[in-house]
Amino acid sequence: MAGRPIVPRVRGWCPGAWRPMATGDGLLVRVRPRLGRLTRAQMLALCDAAETWGSGLVELTRRGNLQLRGVSEAEWPALMACLVEWELVAADAEVERQPALLVTPDWQPGDVTHDAARRLQEWFEGRHGVPRDAWPRLPAKWGLAIDAGPAPVLTEASADLRLERAADGRLLVRADGRSLGTPVDSVEAAIELLRRLAHWFVENGGTGRMHRLTVPLPAWAPATMAPAGLSESTASLALGEHPRGRVVGLPFGRASASTLRAALAPENITGVRATPWRRLLIEGEGGNPDDAEAVPGLIHDERDPRLAMDACPGAPHCERASVATRELAQAIAERRGARDAERVHVSGCAKGCARGRSADICLTGRDGRFDLILGGCADDAPVATGLSEAEVLAALKKEKK
Ligand code: SF4
Repeated sequence: MAGRPIVPRVRGWCPGAWRPMATGDGLLVRVRPRLGRLTRAQMLALCDAAETWGSGLVELTRRGNLQLRGVSEAEWPALMACLVEWELVAADAEVERQPALLVTPDWQPGDVTHDAARRLQEWFEGRHGVPRDAWPRLPAKWGLAIDAGPAPVLTEASADLRLERAADGRLLVRADGRSLGTPVDSVEAAIELLRRLAHWFVENGGTGRMHRLTVPLPAWAPATMAPAGLSESTASLALGEHPRGRVVGLPFGRASASTLRAALAPENITGVRATPWRRLLIEGEGGNPDDAEAVPGLIHDERDPRLAMDACPGAPHCERASVATRELAQAIAERRGARDAERVHVSGCAKGCARGRSADICLTGRDGRFDLILGGCADDAPVATGLSEAEVLAALKKEKK
C-alpha cells in the first residue's frame, strides 16, 4: 500500500480514492462503482468503512459515484487497503486516471449497454493484455456515458462522449454539446469511434470538457443523426417497485451507513445500482417490498419536496463554506410540504457544486449569511444579500404568496 496521499487544494480538482481531496472535515474519498453496481457485500463493506474511517455517511454524486468524507490522512492507507480488498477500488492507481464510465442503471447482463461498458472497463483496467495506452491521457473530469437502451436516459448527466440509440435503433456515438451523433453498426465500431474522438479532442487542444471544444467534428465522425427521444418514464427511475428490485432516494444525495445497512437487510437483496439522480436501485426480486419501504432516512415518495432540491455539503464539511446548507435545505423542505415544482438550490459558496444549472430559488452562502438568487446559478447576481436563515425562510414565504 502506498504512503499517505498527496492532498491537493486547487480548484477544478476531481478527487478519487487514490487522489482524495482535502475538505473542511478531512479527506473526501470517491469510489467509482464498476459498471455502476456494487454487490450487497461490497455495499455493506463500504458502509462499514464509512463508520470505521469516515464520518459515517455515504454520499451519492451526480455522476453516480459513492464517496466517504471525514477520513484522516493517517487512516487513509487503512481505508484504501479495505477498498482494494473488496474490489471497490482498483489496486492500480492508474485505472482511476482513465475516463469515468457512467452506465445506464438498469442494464441487464449481456445487453448492449453492459457489453460496451464491460469492454471499455476491461480496456481501462488493462485486462486481457488490452493496451490501455491506446486511449489518450484525458482531463480528470472526463467521462463516457454508456446509455444504449431504447432511448437515452443519461442526457442530463455529465459526460463528454455518449453511446446512445438513434431514432432508427442503430447505435449512436455523440460528442457532448452536439445535438447530432454518428451512427455505427456494432459495439466494436462504437468503441473504436469513442477512442478516436478522445484522441481528436486532445489533438485539437481540448483541455477541459468536450462541450467547450467548438472545433468542427472530423469528417470521419459525421454528426448526422439525433438520439432517440428522451424516455420520460425512465429518465430518473421512479421511486418504489422496479422489475429488478426497488428504487429509493437519498435526501440531498447522502445517507448514513446504518440507514443503508437497514435497506440492505432483507436476504433477497443481491446488489445496488448507483444512479446520477440521487437514487439507488436496490436489486432483489421476489422480496417483501414493505421491507425497504419501511427504512427511515431514505426517500420513498415521489412527492417528497427534497427531490426538487439540491444542497452541497456546506460547513463544516467543506472548507470553502461559511454556512451550513443541508439544515436550511431540510427546513425549507419541511415548510414546502408535498413536492413543489420549483427547483431549490442551497449552496455553501458561489461555486455551486451541487447544481450546475439554474434553479428557481438559489441560496448562496457568503461570510456566514445567505444571498438569494431567483432563476439563476450560485454565482449569479442576487436579489437580496446577507440574509440569516430565519430571514431566508421569511423571504421564501413571501415569495410563495
Ligand atoms: S459549493 Fe459547497 S461543496 Fe462546493 S466548494 Fe462551495 S461550499 Fe464547498
